[in-house]
Amino acid sequence: MAGSQIEDVFADVIERARVLDPANARRWFDHLCILQLNNGRLQIGCPDEAKLRFLRDKCQSGFNLAAQQVTGHLVVVEFSIEASQRRQARPQTGRADLKLHPDYTFENFVVGPSNRLAHASCIAISQSPGDTYNPLFIYGNSGLGKTHLLHAVCYELKDRDGDTTIQFLSCEEFVNRFIRAIEEGNLAGFQGQFRSVDAIVIDDIQFLSEREQSQEEFFHTFNALYNNGKQIILSCDRSPAEISSLEERLISRFSWGLVTRIDPPSYETRIAIVQKKAHLRGLEISDEIAEYIARKLQTNIRELEGALTSVYAVMNTTGEPVTLELAKKALAGQIGPEIKSISITEIIEAVTGHFDVRLADLQSKRRSQSITLPRQICMYLARSLTRHSLEEIGGHLGGRDHTTVMHACNKISEVGRRDTEMHALLTELTRQITQVGRVGG
Ligand code: ADP
Ligand code: MG
Repeated sequence: MAGSQIEDVFADVIERARVLDPANARRWFDHLCILQLNNGRLQIGCPDEAKLRFLRDKCQSGFNLAAQQVTGHLVVVEFSIEASQRRQARPQTGRADLKLHPDYTFENFVVGPSNRLAHASCIAISQSPGDTYNPLFIYGNSGLGKTHLLHAVCYELKDRDGDTTIQFLSCEEFVNRFIRAIEEGNLAGFQGQFRSVDAIVIDDIQFLSEREQSQEEFFHTFNALYNNGKQIILSCDRSPAEISSLEERLISRFSWGLVTRIDPPSYETRIAIVQKKAHLRGLEISDEIAEYIARKLQTNIRELEGALTSVYAVMNTTGEPVTLELAKKALAGQIGPEIKSISITEIIEAVTGHFDVRLADLQSKRRSQSITLPRQICMYLARSLTRHSLEEIGGHLGGRDHTTVMHACNKISEVGRRDTEMHALLTELTRQITQVGRVGG
């Protein structure tokens, strides 16, 4: 194949991957490049470790299928970091082990009155770790951006100095690694890993509650780092004093530096976040729709993201442009004082009810059309209305593998676009399921 032809194929693969999996489509896919296409392998280059991890974790099966559909051959996609892109990008040293999410940067964080102080302290720390606010303790309810900010600080610390060593992990992981170190009789190794870094960033520190031995260990880690002027950043779902069964000496240490709270975002901030999130996915929505979503969803930003995903799911089913009417339809039933996430079980109940089949049939090996169709519709709805992976969805439906699920989603989505009856059925099932979600919540 000539070079320009390969480029065309590659552009089609990217486009197809976006359609197949809109929730994980990102604008920066435009900057991916093709490294090689031969022997059934399509090698794709990306600029940095965070994007590489995202592609491998979230996008592998979508890209494989896209490549297979576009080329008509059994092609397997491989992602890697492309050396020339790396030079233009930010420095990379040692970021690989940090497991940073490519979306969670300062650039993608919307600042408003509810999070201004937390954001400003994170910026200050990333410019001058160890001597501005130490420790920094950020707290607030779930879904308000704490984890996002912690990732952003890690990015910036690494940018500023690629040799900076950071331990960034959830408190649960800290506890688990501590327990494992004890079991393996390697406490010294554990302590060496944590007490020698330039910064320690621990998410959801409330997990220390009632874990006395871990508290003891963390106390010594804290002291060792603090005394050496190393940066400590902690996030929590409540203030230090509200963590139950936490030793007094830790409570007081958590308050030595800056304790800052994140509140639920204002209406204006929510609009800006909706628009930012849509933009990240390479999708534009009108101000009217952003305002509608922001007005309806008030407490948790994760709900905003779920709302956007629903809007796009319905948009993909119907193939219509996103109008306010369509957004309202997509969000009907999902919006309420308490938004309950939709489970695969609810989807299966609605579908088996409609087709009058049993779950056991869907999970069986039977391949007659009367069973295959409802099974595929379940897969499609689970894909568009929940955040379960293809593997998980396949697991619920008799242990099907991810390519089977991807094929089903793709097929139903295409039939839904062509066939008005199918379209009506999918819309109706979606309405039923999302309303069940609300009533049950
Ligand atoms: P928490 O750790 O406080 O529970 P997260 O950091 O996981 O919350 O945030 C939940 C979602 O909301 C993430 O996708 C995050 O990117 C998004 N988010 C939260 N606050 C903001 C903000 N100010 N700007 C942009 N996105 C935000
Ligand atoms: Mg979090």
